[in-house]
Amino acid sequence: MKIAKSIRKISLAELSNLVFASPRIRHLLLPLIDKKIKRDVLKKAEKSYEIPAELEEQYYFVRDLLMTASERMDENLLSPDILKTVFKNFVDNILFKSTKAKDEAYEKQKVEYPRLLLISPTQRCNLRCKGCYAGSDKETAASLDWDTFDRILTEKEELWSSYFTTITGGEPFLWSDNGKTIFDIFAKHKNQYFLVYTNGTLLNKENVRKLAEVGNVAPAISVEGFKKETDARRGEGVHDRILQAFANLREAGNPFGISVTPTRQNAELLISDEFIDFYFKEQKALFGWSFQYMPIGREIDFDTMVTPEQRLYLYKRSKYILKEKGFAHCDFWNNGYLSNGCIAAGRKGGFAYIEGNGNVAPCAFIPYYTANIYDIYKNGGNLDTVRETKFFKDIRNWQKNYGYMQPRGRVKNRLMPCPMRDHHQEICKILKENNVQSLDVFAEEALKSDRYHEQLIDYDEKVAALLDPVWESDFMEQGEDVLSEAV
Ligand code: SF4
Repeated sequence: MKIAKSIRKISLAELSNLVFASPRIRHLLLPLIDKKIKRDVLKKAEKSYEIPAELEEQYYFVRDLLMTASERMDENLLSPDILKTVFKNFVDNILFKSTKAKDEAYEKQKVEYPRLLLISPTQRCNLRCKGCYAGSDKETAASLDWDTFDRILTEKEELWSSYFTTITGGEPFLWSDNGKTIFDIFAKHKNQYFLVYTNGTLLNKENVRKLAEVGNVAPAISVEGFKKETDARRGEGVHDRILQAFANLREAGNPFGISVTPTRQNAELLISDEFIDFYFKEQKALFGWSFQYMPIGREIDFDTMVTPEQRLYLYKRSKYILKEKGFAHCDFWNNGYLSNGCIAAGRKGGFAYIEGNGNVAPCAFIPYYTANIYDIYKNGGNLDTVRETKFFKDIRNWQKNYGYMQPRGRVKNRLMPCPMRDHHQEICKILKENNVQSLDVFAEEALKSDRYHEQLIDYDEKVAALLDPVWESDFMEQGEDVLSEAV
């Protein structure tokens, strides 16, 4: 009783640090931390723009991450040294310092700070997978230089209190400039945490040792299913190399997750119990991200997109995996309720995307830009210059009109949060008004193609007919009692 009372007085950051003091203390404290998270969730529900059923799902996500991490610690699959860095960066810097700075800025000056940046430092890749948005051609593959990459990371921390960076590609582990590699970036920015989307083929023992040494990187390795499916899309022998990467990461005690691309052909497999159990229970992934195939990049193919019915099925299964199976496995589109909708264009707590040429897009899935970071730096600007562009502001206004930070009754369907994929007609207007440029030739072809736009708009209408009623029943019609039952 006494312990519980004193626990209530200390911050979640301090609590989390205590958790890693010893397994015994951790197991004693975990239920108390869980209670504290629940209390925080209930407090949040008092705000008029929070939706109780969304908070319920957000609670499951945090609970799953915490409990799975604890299990991995019991199994000696997370190194104590790495965990110290993870918790210093992730809990202290990202969850607390960063959130506090952003909330204060928003309350006082209505300034929105993004929580993270998505950076593709190089378009180079050692594989060529169908439908990859990176559209990487060896001849045209661009890479950021060290000074710019380094400056972006320094600046995001100074300007936005942003300590979380997502790195994508191309293949990030191929990036190098002037004798420096991606490991030098991780080491130089040791107080940030990096989530790296990778094909995993370069995570040999030596590279994983380097990752473990810096301790601030969690790779998310792409898989397409099991061996047959992964090798079919990524190349012969790739799945074996991925399993070896998992083994190397487990051995080093470095956290990792998986990343998947559901398509019309593999959606059911990627959300099956068999698949989830293999990667989470056997291979010991800590988290998973799912990005349904989006018709951008090379070889655009609408028949590869999941059907509206599959999209509904993916939604139901992802809820089940989060709540019942207890794994933090998220669907970037269907689970828009985990992030209060679209987080692109530098929204508060959100992100923007910088690619190898320095062009800055609102999101990797909106492959258009009006600003380039090299030009901005040359002209005396900084990352805030991008946040203030009309293009970004227009998208943030769209997010607000869609319900971000609006009273509950004005929030629209967050099972379809995406202006590009789910509300294509509306992004078309914004793209046109801003006279955008395309990140690559594939995006340019799409922009100019009436047929492309018609197909996406038609898809949106069909998805809305299925998902709008589900949003109403599963979220809008659920009162606060959903929280008292869950938390
Ligand atoms: S633009 Fe679409 S894909 Fe990008 S963050 Fe928003 S909802 Fe997600």
